[in-house]
Amino acid sequence: MEKFAKAGDFCPNEDCPDFGQLQDDQKQQNLQKFGKTSKGVQRFRCKTCGKTFTETTGTIFFRKRTPEHEILETLALIAEGSRISSLSRVKGFKEDTIAQWVREAAEHMEQVEGVLLSEFKIERGQLDALWAYVRNKGEKKLSGNG
Ligand SMILES: [Zn+2]
Repeated sequence: MEKFAKAGDFCPNEDCPDFGQLQDDQKQQNLQKFGKTSKGVQRFRCKTCGKTFTETTGTIFFRKRTPEHEILETLALIAEGSRISSLSRVKGFKEDTIAQWVREAAEHMEQVEGVLLSEFKIERGQLDALWAYVRNKGEKKLSGNG
């Protein structure tokens, strides 16, 4: 089961031996909180590699096979009004896959919005369209079997 890792759950440094190792209460404890940035974003330090990073570093689509940029670009296009069905054709992803990205992105709304606003020149009003998609369609597919 693919799942989003929470910010600060793992070391995002690909060269680190503990890269991608999720923090565990007992076993895996290489990350420590390391103050905050001037904007109040939690900073972490990996004891294994010594790198510091913030909770917004590379965590959004951790463990996805598709590159994060590709996913974010797809989300940006949805915000700009593209339909998932047409994006599916253009980009070659299954509609279900894209819909899943949107739903999962909604769970990390602040991070995703931050990236879309800053790197994809999406406007705040367009973000509503993206999240509206989640509200309208996200619930239909949930079955009670959890
Ligand atoms: Zn590390």
